[in-house]
Amino acid sequence: MAKIIGDRAIIVGGSIAGLLSAKVLSDYFEQVIMIDRDKLPETPQARRGVPQSVQPHVLFTKGYRILAEFFPGIEEQLDNNGALSIDWAREFKHFVEEKWGIEAKEASDIVSITCSRYLLEWTIRQELLKLPKIKILEQSKVAGLVYDAQTNQIRGVKLDSTQQTELTADLIVDASGRSSQASQWLEQIGQTAAPETVVNPFLGYATRRYKLPDNQSSNWKVLLISQSPPKNTRLGYLAKIENNELIATLGGYGKDFPPLEDRGFREFAQSLAQPDFYQAIADAIPTSPIYAHRATANRMRNYHKVKLPVGFIALGDAVCALCPVYGQGMTVSALGAKTLQAWLDKSSRGKLDNNRFQKQLAKNNSFHWMLATSQDSRFPTTVGGKSKSGTVDKLMTGYMNKLVSKSASKPNLQLMFLEVAHLLRSPLYLYHPAVIWQVLT
Ligand SMILES: Cc1cc2nc3c(=O)[nH]c(=O)nc-3n(C[C@H](O)[C@H](O)[C@H](O)COP(=O)(O)OP(=O)(O)OC[C@H]3O[C@@H](n4cnc5c(N)ncnc54)[C@H](O)[C@@H]3O)c2cc1C
Repeated sequence: MAKIIGDRAIIVGGSIAGLLSAKVLSDYFEQVIMIDRDKLPETPQARRGVPQSVQPHVLFTKGYRILAEFFPGIEEQLDNNGALSIDWAREFKHFVEEKWGIEAKEASDIVSITCSRYLLEWTIRQELLKLPKIKILEQSKVAGLVYDAQTNQIRGVKLDSTQQTELTADLIVDASGRSSQASQWLEQIGQTAAPETVVNPFLGYATRRYKLPDNQSSNWKVLLISQSPPKNTRLGYLAKIENNELIATLGGYGKDFPPLEDRGFREFAQSLAQPDFYQAIADAIPTSPIYAHRATANRMRNYHKVKLPVGFIALGDAVCALCPVYGQGMTVSALGAKTLQAWLDKSSRGKLDNNRFQKQLAKNNSFHWMLATSQDSRFPTTVGGKSKSGTVDKLMTGYMNKLVSKSASKPNLQLMFLEVAHLLRSPLYLYHPAVIWQVLT
């Protein structure tokens, strides 16, 4: 049983990072208020404040396990709500580095779910609402921070554009996503904004849902035809989701944006490195328009590099928004909630060292940031990344390409690679002598 260290915590943003943090905070505060600018839908559906909710979302096994730890029984709820369980070793078909990965014969424990982003968020919200300490304030936009200059403490938030209404708390958590305004709020009260690092691959998505064709007998639940830097900028992603639907996404790096009308969408699908994506949608009946998404840059707000006033922290996409292709965001948010838990555990009433929290979070995020930005930087059109011209960088890239390629013929390498990808094993394992030997021989 966790200890109580404060009366009230406020979270700005009620999406994945906000929901998971709210659960953690409810163990340490008497009351937790989660504020969102949207009216939160009563049934699973897309909403304005989360424009990416119509886009596909992979949930890594690590993220799924953290969800189950925070909300015991949520796996069953997701199942009841129509999410499909997926064994990534057996039901994920992946074309990468010009080869198809092999399908495992045995069942694995690299398991999570495939469903729409809004079904997942809605299910978590239903679970959170069962906790008596949680209060959700909808249709309320946070517009600034309440600051006590004498104690150098953030004491609350200002609501709506008039900033007339104030709500006070012992801790304010910014989980308002990639378009967070918190840095500007800090500047408004005379503090330093978090310096930003942006690595923009100019990747565009176009996504459409289809009725799953009756004759769809494939044994995959998710199929991915990956981009291949530096030349092949295009990718195709398909996932079976709830309600017998297929979510189909085309992606193009370096402003090679997939078209948003039917004919262009199909032509782009036909141009992919393998025909499987096009074959799956060719005769399928669309159930949605084609939705574009182009706000995909990697954006890091370096809160760990400034001295924050007491009583304020930030996490989730508000701190580290990643290029979506690598499917890390929600799991990184879940890991951020675990970092929050560990920090609160070491804190006590009136003693919340928020700068220490941001440093730990930055440390934990750094691997995910490095993975996304180093892969994106393999495209010459990416702006903001470090150039990859050094001998070590070339060796590392060459080794990783070889590892991916060899995994297509060595089941144990493929399984290990999946375990690392799903954050079940340390990435350092990829450099274990036994693994290097298998890759290089
Ligand atoms: C195209 C795309 C595809 C993605 N695919 C994947 C994937 O496959 N796998 C994966 O794990 N992740 C993926 N992600 C990332 C994932 O969506 C996020 O990492 C995840 O949703 C966590 O974000 P968040 O909760 O921090 O912020 P968000 O989801 O952006 O939510 C922010 C919330 O804050 C609210 N808000 C904002 N400002 C205010 C304010 N001033 N006052 C009150 N409320 C406010 C908004 O209404 C919203 O509810 C993808 C992202 C994009 C853009």
